[in-house]
Amino acid sequence: MKYKTYAPGSIEVPKEIYQQLLSEHEQKLDSWLTVKCPAHDDQKASLGLLITQEQGRPRIAVHCHAGCSNEEIYKELGLEYPTIEESYWDYKKANGDYSHTKLKKEIFKNGVRKSKSYAIGIRKKNSFDDYDFDKVFEKTEDILYNLPQVLKATDDIYLVEGEKCADELIKNGLTATTACKGGGFWNPEFVKSIEHANRIIIIPDNDDTGVLYLNKISKSLLDKGYEEVYRLNLPGLDKKEDIYDWFRKGNTIEELQALALKQITVKDLPATTSFSGSSLAWQKKLEMRPTKQGSQIASTLNNYAHILQNHPTWKGVFAENLMVGEIVKLASPIPKVDPGRMADNGSDLIALKIWIHENYPELDPSTDMLHDG
Ligand SMILES: [Zn+2]
Repeated sequence: MKYKTYAPGSIEVPKEIYQQLLSEHEQKLDSWLTVKCPAHDDQKASLGLLITQEQGRPRIAVHCHAGCSNEEIYKELGLEYPTIEESYWDYKKANGDYSHTKLKKEIFKNGVRKSKSYAIGIRKKNSFDDYDFDKVFEKTEDILYNLPQVLKATDDIYLVEGEKCADELIKNGLTATTACKGGGFWNPEFVKSIEHANRIIIIPDNDDTGVLYLNKISKSLLDKGYEEVYRLNLPGLDKKEDIYDWFRKGNTIEELQALALKQITVKDLPATTSFSGSSLAWQKKLEMRPTKQGSQIASTLNNYAHILQNHPTWKGVFAENLMVGEIVKLASPIPKVDPGRMADNGSDLIALKIWIHENYPELDPSTDMLHDG
């Protein structure tokens, strides 16, 4: 079965403009060309241009490294002002069957992007471009992009932010994936789909959301016992840019693979991101205290009990690190003992340690279950 797979950010163009661009650029179809940008005084070739077609309909995608807006470029190419750009990505289940489609819709006005929105839809029967967007979230599985290939991967798996970035790596022969609902919605269950990788390499966007994404993923991997997680820092990125922009700047896949990887461990992760951005009902009940960076979990007995009873991977063991005022999972596993007792792992930084059996129904703070480490 064939699915509608528009090149991300591409727009449909009239046949005459399509033919003219093809003849200007040696009939090169379906590969990113580096050409002079028509929208500014371009001394070097700053424009990435993709000429393509989908279902027999001509399309192009453009990107100016010097910063011209797409609408400025369209105008110079003789296109009428498009007001909407749509990109579609199909998600497939583990067995390769179609699951759902993610739509990215961007609205432009006078050359400026006014809004960006996402939707998840299920394609209607026998249709390439008619979707049902009603209550689709409940009907679809929360799965990783490019799942069938990810499950088969025997080498490294790259985690990026967004399908557009994943596609850049996939078409260069790498295994890449992303979370459907964005970096803030990393589901700890995704680890099951990637834990067989040779290495897990995270390439976050160059912004605050990127840091949050990096930390969420790293944390969930490290919590599941995955010891080596890597971060790839892309040199030369401006704020908010990503791997897609990095390739548009002329960097190559060989350069990407030659970049040094920074290995991540729990201690590298900023404490304030341990729980921030979480939306699970039990996490909302935690008492927070304000800090300069935002807020963090208060070191209260109620919070300890609440985390011990609810956190999917911290159930059982954690400690408070008084040096940084942070609640952490103990880095080295401690032997399981009877509820109420615990082994000392010898860390000077940890002032209070609590251990509770994960099947224990209630923690009563008034009992002697708490021991000063
Ligand atoms: Zn330009």
